[in-house]
Order: sequence, then C-alpha cells, then structure tokens
Amino acid sequence: MSVPYRLLPRLKMAVRALLLDTPFLPGRIPPDADDEAGAAVPETPCPPEPILTCDSCPVCGHGERTLVCEYNRFITFERQPDSNAARYDYSLCHACGVVYAVRRPAGARYRWLLEHFEEALGRESDVPSAAKLTASAFDLSEKERQDIKRRAARGILVSDHLGLSRRDYLPALLTDRIANSGHVELLGSLLTLNAPRVLEIRSRAGSILAGLRRLYHADVAAMTMFENQRLIIEEAYGIPVAALVDYDQFSIPYAGTFDLIVANHMFTHAVRPGDFLRALRQHLAPDGHVYLYNEPNDAEFLSEGKSMFNTLNAFHLQAFDRLSLVRALGAHGFEVRFLTRFDGNFICLAQKKDVPLTWDGMNDAERSKRLDACLLARDAAVLMLPPSARGPFSAEWDEIVDRGFAAGIAEVGENGQPHVRRRRTSRGAR
Ligand SMILES: [Zn+2]
Repeated sequence: MSVPYRLLPRLKMAVRALLLDTPFLPGRIPPDADDEAGAAVPETPCPPEPILTCDSCPVCGHGERTLVCEYNRFITFERQPDSNAARYDYSLCHACGVVYAVRRPAGARYRWLLEHFEEALGRESDVPSAAKLTASAFDLSEKERQDIKRRAARGILVSDHLGLSRRDYLPALLTDRIANSGHVELLGSLLTLNAPRVLEIRSRAGSILAGLRRLYHADVAAMTMFENQRLIIEEAYGIPVAALVDYDQFSIPYAGTFDLIVANHMFTHAVRPGDFLRALRQHLAPDGHVYLYNEPNDAEFLSEGKSMFNTLNAFHLQAFDRLSLVRALGAHGFEVRFLTRFDGNFICLAQKKDVPLTWDGMNDAERSKRLDACLLARDAAVLMLPPSARGPFSAEWDEIVDRGFAAGIAEVGENGQPHVRRRRTSRGAR
C-alpha cells in the first residue's frame, strides 16, 4: 500500500491549507517566472517516526476505552504516505466520551504531514489556479515579504469604488473581518470586557483581536499557523505575533497571563490535547476565559450522514459531541459558560476555575448509546467506500452488510449492490 508520494509545490499546499481548512486565502502575490519554474520541492519520504501510542485518554487520563474505528481518511486513498499512515485506532474514552486516535503522528512525522497538508487531505487538483500562487506560507522570500508589506499598507477597508487592482491590497482581510465579526459580537455580549489582555491562537487574519481592541481597548497578541499570516497581521494591524503554532510541542511564548484566550480549530488537532489545555490554563488569569471556535461536532458522521473515514482526516486526533467537550474542559478545570453550534462547528466559552472541578464520566446509558452510534458510523463508512478501497474489510464485509440492513442504514441500489441510505446532511444542523 505504501508507494512513493508525489509532492506538490509547498506554495500550493500552503495556500490550499489556508483556503480549505479554514477559509482564508492569504494575499495573492504576482507570479514570479523564476519561482514558478523551480517551485517544486525535492521529494522527501514521510518520516516513519515518531508515532505516539496513548496508554490512556490523552484528554482526561482515564484508561478504559473501546476501539470504534481503526482508520483515518487515508484508508480511502489509493496512495498513502506509508503503510502506517491510515492506522489511528480511534477509540471511545469511557469517562469523558472523547473519541481519540490511540496511534498518532508526532514530531517530524506530524510536521511532514502538515507540510503536505493538501495531499494529506486528498485535495490534489481542485484549485488549479493555486499553481500560479508563489506564496509559500512556511517561508517567505524577501520579495514576498515586501509584496505583503506593500499590500497591507493599503489597509483593511479598501473600497471598490476606488478601482484599485486586487493585487495592490489584501482583499482577504476584509473578507475575514466580516466572516469573524460574529465572534466579536458574541464575546462582547457574553463577557464584561474592560481593557482585557487577549491572545488568539491560530488567528487567520487578526480580525477578532482587532475588533476587541477597537471596541474594548483590549491589549492583544496572536499566534498563527503560517508565516504569511504572521506578517499580514503584524503589518495590517500592528498586532504582535510572537510564534507560529506547534501542534505537537504546544507552548505560549508570551509572559504573564491573559484574561481571554481565543483558539481557532485547535483542540481537535492537538497532538497532546491535555498539554494544550494545561497551557491555556497556565496562561489565564484567575477566572479568565477560553473561547474555542471552529471545533467540529462528531454529529457530522454520527447522525448527519458524512463518512466517518472522510471526516477523520490525518489531523483530526480528537472527535467529540457537546457533552464530551464539556467534560473534556471540565477535566482541566474549565467550566463551560456558553456553547453553541454555528455553521456546523462548536463555539464554546469556558471559564477557568481555581478549585478542581468534579466532573462525572459518562453514565452507562450514554456510553452505550454513543458506542453504538460510533460503531454504526464505522459500518456506514465502510459501506460508502468504493469497491476498490474495501480490501481491508473483505473478511468482515458480509457482517457489515447484515448489520447495515438490520440497523436500517443500508439498502440495495439499482446495481444490486448494498449501499448506505441517504441521510440528512445539513451542515448547520444543531
Ligand atoms: Zn477521556
């Protein structure tokens, strides 16, 4: 199953990472003839190590669990980085209810996957224009830096009536500002903000921080995923960005504590989620708040018809529902103050408590129901696979089909073959 991996130019990967994982496209930079010719990076194989094995739940520390799904999205690929890449052994923690990857890449291996982000997500050819972008998001040439600075100097609210070329400013800044204004509205409505100190982790374009600074005189700082975001935020808003996010050895490079830490799509990706939550806690003032957004809800594959394999890509190391997220935060001394689902994803505001919170694990009824839902979702995901990808399940296929019919999720298609009944897929469903 392991075959050489064709590498795409890093620039293409990085741009798509931003565009598709969280919908923010960094500044388009005019193609450079020299760069285009040499854009492809030398092929490097996926480092075989390290692969972490979790002896207990990496979120709450509990030891009991049940395996619910052996594979991540790589199982649907014809080519995989190597023969271990698809195997994560997602298991349900019996206490907090989080479904976590027992086997997970770390260090150089995680970094390699991140640097091959779009291939790791199976997105090879859906944005052909990306090939024309020369911005590498991990490293910027001096020319690229100067170009971003020139465009950022035009500001954020660039009016179309001026007739400027889109290459002369950064249109994505305004798009991001509008897209994220809801978070500023929510935070301002839920909290009493009096010149708070605020950090945003994995800020896309600084919009939330800029809003909080303008309205509540917040003292703000950011961490980003990519170097071009860092430069854009510093140039456009003058907001300091002390470091890029390290998903494995996560740390916050700022001294002192914050009143509010905003984190974009971090918990599901964290290689060491317990350490991540501990770091947030450490850097919060007493009674400070965390605001998590863009955290996926596993209802996507448990009840809304998406394939579990497709949803659990190589970077989704934790999956959870509403109650599991509340328990996960509770296990680390955070009391949830507000939780909702917007555009399919969780938004969650929680407060740091100085006394350890007592939290109850799932009771038997909830555990049993959640376990059944996970196992059925795994059956459904197998039934959704094209025949060419069913190899690993051939010995189990008949049982999976029988279970699918018994549970009412399978039916016989026009070709006489079993397939999954269409289920509701409304992404914004609550
Ligand atoms: Zn747990």
